[in-house]
Amino acid sequence: MLILGQILVFLAFIGLLGWTAFARSCRTQLQAKSLEDWLLDSAGLCVQGMLIPLLQATVIYQLYRHWLPLSPGKLHASLIVTFMLSFVAVDYLYYWNHRLLHSGVFWNIHQVHHTVTHLDVLGTSRNTIWASLLIIYLWVHSLFLYLLADPAGYLLGVSLTSALDLWRHSQLTIPSNSCLDRCLSPWLILPQEHAWHHSSQLPNCNYGANLKLWDKLHGTYYQANELPSAIGIATPLNFTQKLFLPFL
Ligand SMILES: [Zn+2]
Ligand SMILES: [Zn+2]
Repeated sequence: MLILGQILVFLAFIGLLGWTAFARSCRTQLQAKSLEDWLLDSAGLCVQGMLIPLLQATVIYQLYRHWLPLSPGKLHASLIVTFMLSFVAVDYLYYWNHRLLHSGVFWNIHQVHHTVTHLDVLGTSRNTIWASLLIIYLWVHSLFLYLLADPAGYLLGVSLTSALDLWRHSQLTIPSNSCLDRCLSPWLILPQEHAWHHSSQLPNCNYGANLKLWDKLHGTYYQANELPSAIGIATPLNFTQKLFLPFL
């Protein structure tokens, strides 16, 4: 299941990258992207795509092994339950995690993600290099991979969440009222909805990752059929500050 999940995420990334390169407006935006932004986005993708999974499987896993009173693999649950655990329950935790990142001192760190001015799949993981330490995925995923006797369903949920995250940061929107739109829009956060989270006009909405239920429950949902006209925030941070220490 781990291999299947990795293939799913890889195909989503390659497919969305190919679409971005072929879509004329996106290609123009890619060509106009600054070297600084290319470096920031590449560093973010390397951290989130390689370093974080490696940390989860080694250092964090060993931390739990030393500190938790349970030995690994003690939690038994079916494939569907473990899938729902990662795709739904952890998604709710992430909703509050994301809202916290928009408050107080945490905003300084998270603001780097919001410096993306044109959504494309490469900007999905733009962040200060250590920002993942503040995102629950690092800790909660490692915990359940440690506890679960069979983490196959959980890993599938993690991979689907990652693939959807890549899609949400692209401009590949589904035509409204199409069959696919009618199937997905009642429950899934779509790219145009996450784009409004990144918008300059209305940034305090659509904090959810997978499900829009959490935003609807807590009054932060903004329904959108189209992409906003302006994306991103202005920040006086320089490249080094964005990458390592986003404080003025
Ligand atoms: Zn945000
Ligand atoms: Zn985003």
